[in-house]
Amino acid sequence: MNGMTRRELQLTDRADILHILNTAQILHLGLCDDGEPYVVPMNYGYEMTDDGRLFLYVHGAVQGKKLDIMRKNPRIFVEMECDIAPFTGDVACRYGMSYRSLMGRGTAVFVDDPQEKMHALSVLMKTQTGEDFTFTEPLARIVAIVRLEIDEYTAKHRPTPKTRPCSSDSTH
Ligand SMILES: Cc1cc2nc3c(=O)[nH]c(=O)nc-3n(C[C@H](O)[C@H](O)[C@H](O)COP(=O)(O)OP(=O)(O)OC[C@H]3O[C@@H](n4cnc5c(N)ncnc54)[C@H](O)[C@@H]3O)c2cc1C
Repeated sequence: MNGMTRRELQLTDRADILHILNTAQILHLGLCDDGEPYVVPMNYGYEMTDDGRLFLYVHGAVQGKKLDIMRKNPRIFVEMECDIAPFTGDVACRYGMSYRSLMGRGTAVFVDDPQEKMHALSVLMKTQTGEDFTFTEPLARIVAIVRLEIDEYTAKHRPTPKTRPCSSDSTH
């Protein structure tokens, strides 16, 4: 089950993966700065090829720590989640959260070509809003765009349990 426990379902259907990508809105971008971890939340846009290859676009200011790290070490890790719903129980260990989530590793590629930057910004806005936006070249020039080329990813769903075994004897 590729790292999943019995209470979690691995999601492999394209429609399930697209649901997460269309819904999460925020990704957590994990970087490694000379062995020191750094995680930064960001909005993203995505493109998925017919054979399931995933590309995520992020944008922001042209300077900053995350860009400095990615220039030195382009290996990245991403996580995003959606459909978060807390559930309760009669004892503490039956409390929890249902969710859908996606994690993947890949490589950061800086996008410098103005045409591709405009495309990336349109993709980002489509993912974030569902709307079509176009961008001018001057606007594209003043932001940094990074394409996260995801080599491998997994997605999972933790549903709300009907009943769960619990070893705890806590009460409330
Ligand atoms: C929901 C959400 C969505 C976001 N979307 C985007 C986006 O699409 N594009 C984008 O560029 N930024 C986005 N941000 C902001 C982003 O998380 C960073 O704050 C920003 O990109 C600057 O990152 P940096 O590595 O360049 O930090 P720098 O500006 O270089 O700052 C360096 C230091 O500031 C502190 N710092 C930086 N960011 C944060 C933070 N978020 N919270 C607390 N401390 C921080 C850290 O200590 C860091 O070491 C988003 C933030 C949130 C919460």
